[in-house]
Order: sequence, then C-alpha cells, then structure tokens
Amino acid sequence: MSDEQPKFANVAVFVEEYLGQIYQRQVSDSTDTVWCDEWWRHVEAATRLNALWRSWEQLHRDERGGLSYWLLQHADPHMKRLFDPRGPFKYCGVRHGHRDMLGPLPIESPPDGVFADMNADPPTDRMYSTVVDFVENYLSLIYQRQVTDLSDTVWCPQWWQHQEAVVRLDALWRAWEFYRTDPSEGLSRWFLEHADPQMAQLFNPRGPFKYCTVRGGHQSKVSPLPVTMEKQGMFTDPAPEQ
Ligand SMILES: [Zn+2]
Ligand SMILES: [Zn+2]
Repeated sequence: MSDEQPKFANVAVFVEEYLGQIYQRQVSDSTDTVWCDEWWRHVEAATRLNALWRSWEQLHRDERGGLSYWLLQHADPHMKRLFDPRGPFKYCGVRHGHRDMLGPLPIESPPDGVFADMNADPPTDRMYSTVVDFVENYLSLIYQRQVTDLSDTVWCPQWWQHQEAVVRLDALWRAWEFYRTDPSEGLSRWFLEHADPQMAQLFNPRGPFKYCTVRGGHQSKVSPLPVTMEKQGMFTDPAPEQ
C-alpha cells in the first residue's frame, strides 16, 4: 500500500461499504450464485477479500485506468470464485445462513527425510520453512473443498507421493514467498495467476490424484510417461562432414 492513508479502515469496512454495494447480485434464490453473509468465517474468502481490498487501495489512485484494471483483473475473478456454488460458500446461503461444513484439506505428514534435500539451508526471509509447512499451515486451510464424497474434485492426503504435486506445490510456495513482498497487488495476483490454476490441476479428477481418494488413501497407479529410445543420432548435432 502507498504511504497515503487507506480509504477503508479494514477489509470488513471495505466489503460492507464498497464491494458489497458494487456487486449487487441475486444471491437469495439462485443456485448458480452463492454468498455467505458471514464470509469472514471462511479463511479463503477472508484472504481473497483482504487481498482485494489491499489492491484496491493502491490501484484506485491510478488515474491511468487503475480502477478498471482492478475491476477486471482482480475483483471480477475473485468474486467469480466466491460466487461459485462449488467454491467456499458451497453450503452457505443467504436464507439459511452460514454452515460450518467444510474443513481444511485432509493432509498426512510425510515421513521424516522425504524432503531432506529440498530443506537444506532454507533462506531465513521465508514465512514458511518448507513446502510441507506451507501446505499444512496455509494452503490446506485456504482451499477448503468437499473432496470426500465428490468425484469432480479429488485430493490425495499423501500429496507428497506425487512428483507433480510436489513440483507444483513447491513452486506455489516459492511464488507465495515472493508475491507477499508486494503489499498491494501481490497476494491477489498470487491467487489468480498461480494458486487457482495450480490447484485446479491437482483437484482435476483426470489429474495426478486420479486414483487417490480421501477415504481410500493414496494409490500408486500412475507411472512416468512411457518413452522409447529415439532413433540413433536424431537429436545430436549433425557431425561436420569430414
Ligand atoms: Zn459461510
Ligand atoms: Zn495419492
């Protein structure tokens, strides 16, 4: 945020006096647009809306289209995620109120030593010491999804058994540590440009967790893409003619 005083004292005031006034939607009787009046009970909503408020405080001062950019590149995509009936407000509704039915993603800690190589000499300016720390204490609290009884969103409690999940989540953690240093747009951009697309890959029933379930646990059923040896010499530089 810039040195100027923020226009709104905190995210709650911002949502009540500004955001909620702009995004007036039919959320009482429709099933395709959902909302929870106790949004602050949802870690994901609180984190997204806080990021949205911070980016607004910076961008609305930018006369070269800052507010339009904020609406299109920050507010619309975050509000789409929140209004989504499959999102954090899945079980809440304006008529029946908040329902505490989603919990953190189920996680089993890896055995000691699994990440020994990656953990060597962690930089001291990190908020989380390892990707495991980041997944267990941050990411799994944010992406609370119904992953137990649904087949359209899958998750493996032993995510660290999957190379793809390790690479994606490690990259996501490193991106988060970088983006958080930008107090205005950083967290919002991390969500939209990195976390949402990465998590969509992992939650995809055709993705790496295809055979794993929360009830049945991890299944080692997928293996590296099969590769046959290439034709001899195909990828070597052509030898200079003698
Ligand atoms: Zn709720
Ligand atoms: Zn698995």
